[in-house]
Amino acid sequence: MSEEGSGMTSVRRWSQQSLVRCGDHVVTVGGDAPVRVQSMTNTDTAQVIETAVQVKELVQAGSEMVRITVNTPEAAQAVPHIRDQLDRMGIQAPLIGDFHFNGHKLLADYPECAQALGKYRINPGNVGKGDKRDRQFAVMVETAAKYDKAIRIGVNWGSLDQELLASMMDENSRRAEPWDSKKLMCEALIASALDSAQRAIDIGLRSHQIALSCKVSGVQDLITVYRELGRRCDFPLHLGLTEAGMGTKGIVASTAALSVLLQEGIGDTIRVSLTPAPGESRTQEVLVASEILQSLGLRAFAPSVTACPGCGRTTSTTFQELTQQIDGFLREQMPIWSQQYPGVERMKVAVMGCIVNGPGESKHADIGISLPGTGEAPAAPVYIDGEKRQTLRGENIASEFRAIVESYVKNRYGRAGVN
Ligand code: SF4
Repeated sequence: MSEEGSGMTSVRRWSQQSLVRCGDHVVTVGGDAPVRVQSMTNTDTAQVIETAVQVKELVQAGSEMVRITVNTPEAAQAVPHIRDQLDRMGIQAPLIGDFHFNGHKLLADYPECAQALGKYRINPGNVGKGDKRDRQFAVMVETAAKYDKAIRIGVNWGSLDQELLASMMDENSRRAEPWDSKKLMCEALIASALDSAQRAIDIGLRSHQIALSCKVSGVQDLITVYRELGRRCDFPLHLGLTEAGMGTKGIVASTAALSVLLQEGIGDTIRVSLTPAPGESRTQEVLVASEILQSLGLRAFAPSVTACPGCGRTTSTTFQELTQQIDGFLREQMPIWSQQYPGVERMKVAVMGCIVNGPGESKHADIGISLPGTGEAPAAPVYIDGEKRQTLRGENIASEFRAIVESYVKNRYGRAGVN
């Protein structure tokens, strides 16, 4: 995967660089590292094979770190076995342990789990109550320091530290002009993250081992919180609209929120928290996150397909079918192509429905095809590097165009032909 951005119009917010390790494999986060894609499994972590297989799917889809729930002794026991299984499958992406309520106990009782993880997610709202809270938080941080692990202090408004919120509400009631409830909530989220980070440093963690997140489920609220959080600290920030929802709503809401922040240079890792439909692949959230970064010109993961929406000039399904086939073909090839043909992820392919915009858009792409619209001659001109090179006809246009794309990739991005 390419690591450089192109066409970025904003200046990236400066943050300390944090290292997330898995053996010799290191993922850099923050600083000048590319914005990283994260995801999270939805398997029972105690099920070693099932979880390892899903992690592998997420990584192959483009996730660079994968979070897994560690909520029970069985889950904690399974973590090192999941790590071993992934190592055997050649999957190096670090695992992030998601801890709530009993994380201090699981990390203390299962040191192999603590060592196998690359990072711990700690939710300061769920580490305990009263006088137990500070001690339990300290145990988790001390474990991270002992094993040289990174942590993410992950605040979520659904589980905001209630003691902190109550004390801030008391303070607010004494103000001459009290803040409204939204401002108070935003301040409480930020205070929880920053105070917890300072406590972690006081306990002995180095500041570059810490990343922060403050997730909310409203787009405007997320933008407000992260702008302020980014202004007040230089920790790497993990972005995500929590509980984004299903399907189109989840994708659009996440894209809207994350795009605004990323365009302002805010965000070092991202996750798109989609609720999969029953039977839908978990990898959808990774594809959406990657598309957000690629659409903004911040990363390149796979060749992009420019396709027109179709209209009354495309009355057959040929155009949609070819677009779908080419898109699927490019994605299927990427695990191999990304190794053999560096730079191929920046290739642009156009699949257009008729001569209105087809030839023009095809010329702007590296390789493009303009299919015949309704009533047009049954011919599909193919453009390569801006020039019309040949015309396809007949039943096998799809397979012939795939072969042309494959040959173009070999010639242009093969080791000798990289440009
Ligand atoms: S390129 Fe042709 S088929 Fe595609 S939307 Fe435009 S007019 Fe319609």
